Amino acid sequence: ARHQGGDQVHAYSEILDETMQRRMTIEKELFVAIQEGQLRAFLQPQVDMYGRVLGGEALVRWQHPEKGMVSPGEFIPVAEDCGLIVPLGDWMLEQVCLLLNDPRVRAAGYSLSVNVSPLQFQHADFVEKVKSAIQRSGIDPRKLTLEVTESLLLSDVDHAIQKMVNLVALGVQFALDDFGTGYSSLAYLMRLPIQELKLDQVFIRDLRVNAESRVLVEAILMLAKAKGLRVVAEGVEELEQAELLRALEPSILCQGYWFSRPVLAEEWMANPALAHTE
Ligand code: C2E
Ligand code: CA
Ligand code: CA
Ligand code: CA
Repeated sequence: ARHQGGDQVHAYSEILDETMQRRMTIEKELFVAIQEGQLRAFLQPQVDMYGRVLGGEALVRWQHPEKGMVSPGEFIPVAEDCGLIVPLGDWMLEQVCLLLNDPRVRAAGYSLSVNVSPLQFQHADFVEKVKSAIQRSGIDPRKLTLEVTESLLLSDVDHAIQKMVNLVALGVQFALDDFGTGYSSLAYLMRLPIQELKLDQVFIRDLRVNAESRVLVEAILMLAKAKGLRVVAEGVEELEQAELLRALEPSILCQGYWFSRPVLAEEWMANPALAHTE
């Protein structure tokens, strides 16, 4: 038995080793990818009850020279661990400002959202970086939404709130991403100066079949209304889900595969009315 245990430990350390190796490879390659312009900004539209596209969320992809288009799930966690999420996030912010400056986007009046990682947000320069990105591009800051998660609250809360207040004063909007999946109390979350809630896809997934999900969604919508927050539903994959959500809250925006998968930003620009119209 002792011997077996030893083998097991050995096996575990081999697995650990492989995981470490994989992470280190990703880390090295991602560093190069950022320098050499292998990252791509994709956009996924957000659609109102009339089927109009009001804007979208920017999502990063990695155009890997051998592996092809790599999803963020494969490299964002590594980027967060090794700090590369900061230059990656800066690059995405820059791209979104460029996109907002595109005459077609300006003419359509789109708003665009970009994900901000906790590490990026905690960076001492974050407010300055956003400010200078806005000034350099000359965009209307009200068209820019920064998506943050409640993990922001894990560090110095008052400091985080102060940073958000400074950015909101510039006109920038904040969305609380993955709402309803974390562990923070509502009272705590509601201290954040946000303008938007993003209803996580777990609530949408079984909305039709699970009465509990529906009750939760209704409660969240009531809370949002009381707080004057706009709501974006994530992961809308079926027309029935969109219809249910819109019956509960006509002002809700929907984002999901039913309307469109995320598409390369340039493609979206060329054909902005991409979303599924019923
Ligand atoms: P997220 O911010 O919650 O983004 C929504 C995710 O749901 C995206 O996955 C999107 O493609 C996917 N999705 C959209 N519609 C549907 C649907 O109808 N059904 C299902 N099942 N999924 C749908 P993606 O693009 O793979 O991104 C995964 C996560 O990676 C994001 O989750 C976000 O946390 C992170 N991420 C992506 N881009 C960035 C970035 O530029 N910066 C940072 N810090 N994180 C990013
Ligand atoms: Ca997001
Ligand atoms: Ca989300
Ligand atoms: Ca998520």
